[in-house]
Amino acid sequence: MPTRSKTIDLANLPSIDEILRNERSRAGRETLGEARATDLARDVVAGLRSETVSGKIRAKNEMLDEALLRFEQRTLVETLSGTRPVINATGVVIHTNLGRAPLSETAKRAMAEASRYCTLEYDLETGVRGPRGRRAEDLIVQLTGAEAALIVNNCAAAAFFVLSAFAAGGEVIISRGEMVEIGGDFRVPDVLLSSGGKLREVGTTNRTRLTDFARAVNKKTRVILRVHPSNYRIVGFTAMPKLSELAALAKTRKVILYEDIGSGALIDLSAIGLTDEPVVARSLAQGVDIVTFSGDKLLGGPQAGIIAGRKALIEKLRKHPLYRALRVDKMTYAGLGATLQAYVQGSALKDVPVLSMLSRSSDQLAKRASEFAKLLKLRLARTRKLKIELVSGASAIGGGAAPAIQPKTTLIALTHSRKTSQAMERDLRFADMPVISRIVNDRVVLDLRTVAASEEEGLINAIENTVRS
Ligand SMILES: *Cc1c(COP(=O)(O)O)cnc(C)c1O
Repeated sequence: MPTRSKTIDLANLPSIDEILRNERSRAGRETLGEARATDLARDVVAGLRSETVSGKIRAKNEMLDEALLRFEQRTLVETLSGTRPVINATGVVIHTNLGRAPLSETAKRAMAEASRYCTLEYDLETGVRGPRGRRAEDLIVQLTGAEAALIVNNCAAAAFFVLSAFAAGGEVIISRGEMVEIGGDFRVPDVLLSSGGKLREVGTTNRTRLTDFARAVNKKTRVILRVHPSNYRIVGFTAMPKLSELAALAKTRKVILYEDIGSGALIDLSAIGLTDEPVVARSLAQGVDIVTFSGDKLLGGPQAGIIAGRKALIEKLRKHPLYRALRVDKMTYAGLGATLQAYVQGSALKDVPVLSMLSRSSDQLAKRASEFAKLLKLRLARTRKLKIELVSGASAIGGGAAPAIQPKTTLIALTHSRKTSQAMERDLRFADMPVISRIVNDRVVLDLRTVAASEEEGLINAIENTVRS
């Protein structure tokens, strides 16, 4: 074998300019912009240089080809990292990593319309400035029976805002059973601390009595805080005073009773198996002064935090300097308003995607899964590589709501004759329309509960491609 000197090999390295002038890098240059594309080309050449120095031998044309290939791959990875639509075949309805609630057609249309000039703070009747987001607030008032409502960026912002406005410099009483963490970055004690309020824990993890609260109230107390534990449950020997009892205590001692409901339900959802979710209107009817809940959990709208309750308190928040920093944009008002409209019209279970997905019965899902499997078998008739089975399983509510409730579903389980389930799950993620699936018992499983009928074709295409590739 002829030995070649490293100097010759280094001379074979393509220049950055050679990569950028090549037709194969044009798409990358266009999507990433010249500056970023130049950085990538520089990285690619640096990588090849260090491989060459450590002894890897390549001919000149081979070098350029490898450089262009790497440039193309890097471009693809970079473009994939943006926010892209995916098919959620996990069966987790409120999937926080996948953007929580998918919006209804009317909500999407409303948001698209609001993206142009719109009457965000303008009154068409008088032709002058009008109140911001009034319609969405009015709908919340109508649906919850609250005296007034205010919308901010998310429920974490809402909780922080309420505590900052009403508890800073004073004490907040909370049961030890409700000092919870809801997803890594929302921990009740931390939110309280950053709001400037001082925590006063009462009772025990599983049992807290009215007298525990009553004894803790003092001159410094500003707020009695209840937090819905959302993503976990204490079962067995437990006790908490009724909201109405706490409301009476708060009233006589002149402090605010605030409940962070988290997900919450705008209507009673026991018909679809959600017996445990607090209904916002019920909390308010029991005398809670102020509640906060999320717009994109069970409500099924865009990301938002909703604050509802006594008018005097809401108006204080509206005038608070923090409100300017936490308020939402016109698209959120439009999307939330359209979602709330479905509740007002009584069509929420049908029209709000989160609720209609949870309304799908196990029989309906079994039928749909079996039809889908038949269609898939037909489309893959010529290859024998994929085993398609139907197995019973469970979907999940997700979004830190109702952890104990696992709605029954039928899963489509796929086994590839040559690929591991991990490889297949990965291939599905790399489809033109990426599919997010789960692996259960070493099989890739798909749950149609969270797949819209209009997405089935995309799902079949993705599966076909993974089988072919
Ligand atoms: C989910 C949740 C939050 C945080 O809500 P975001 O809208 O995600 O900010 C706060 N409190 C409770 C009780 C929750 O369940």
